[in-house]
Amino acid sequence: MAVKELPVVPSARPGTMAAGAAMERIRERRPVFEKQKCNLCRECLFYCPDAALAVDQGEVRVDLRFCKGCGICAVECPVRAITMVPEYAGNRGFIEK
Ligand code: SF4
Ligand code: SF4
Repeated sequence: MAVKELPVVPSARPGTMAAGAAMERIRERRPVFEKQKCNLCRECLFYCPDAALAVDQGEVRVDLRFCKGCGICAVECPVRAITMVPEYAGNRGFIEK
């Protein structure tokens, strides 16, 4: 059975792992999605330990309140449509939201 046929049952409900504000403080990288490569297989949703991903209006979106930047989604994406980018930009601090 293909992963996309399985129900997405996250290991935690959004917001139950830690307060959203805590994720903002500890995350060093964030996932960025290439819509052109993504085939909506939903494997990233399946593997995200914090249920931070969802398909919305035909594309995968990340809820940064809950993403801890672990990079599992990028590793598991079969078409390499996810890139982890630094949360910080040198001495400029946080990247743009
Ligand atoms: S980003 Fe990758 S793993 Fe996630 S739905 Fe798209 S192709 Fe699948
Ligand atoms: S980096 Fe980790 S927590 Fe964030 S969306 Fe990907 S798998 Fe989920």
